[in-house]
Amino acid sequence: MKHELPQLKYELAALAPAISEETMEYHWGKHFQAYVNNLNNLIAGTKFESASLERIVKESSGALFNNAGQVWNHTFYFDSFSSNPKKEPEGKLPEAINKHFGSLDGLKEQFNKAAIGLFGSGWAWLVKKDDGSLVIMQEANAGSPLRSGSGTALLTVDVWEHAYYIDYRNRRADYLSAWWNIIDWAVVEKRYNE
Ligand code: MN
Repeated sequence: MKHELPQLKYELAALAPAISEETMEYHWGKHFQAYVNNLNNLIAGTKFESASLERIVKESSGALFNNAGQVWNHTFYFDSFSSNPKKEPEGKLPEAINKHFGSLDGLKEQFNKAAIGLFGSGWAWLVKKDDGSLVIMQEANAGSPLRSGSGTALLTVDVWEHAYYIDYRNRRADYLSAWWNIIDWAVVEKRYNE
């Protein structure tokens, strides 16, 4: 199965100023494309040649896992944005957020702390565990809740420097502040309700 770079639901410039067109050209157009290309090269002639991306993420190792994990994570990340995002969650999700973090601001505060405190390259995740509780997790490199089997991913932020360095240099906290403004809560609600 040949893996493809997923197309975006929005224009490359649509997320500016939170994420600039130039960052999108590099992050989606070059880094993400490279992970897809590497994945296709690495599965050739292996038992993963016809496997789903999810199965490769769960079962592979080494360079193949690194690239498959990054393809899954980036697909999830870029799918969370919209040029016209729903600004706040409605329904069951905000009830769960209030229960576990006090408020939406409480979630943002704890999530930002995890994302800023993540040493090196990786991802911060909001996860719905099998018992329905919400937790924030840090995952290094290409890690994810899919890989660790810790629950359903609801939201993630990429804190690899390639995600923000063009726009924010070393100011990861400023990237996070702006990043919340382009999250489409309709997408997060859908993931929570599934
Ligand atoms: Mn990235």
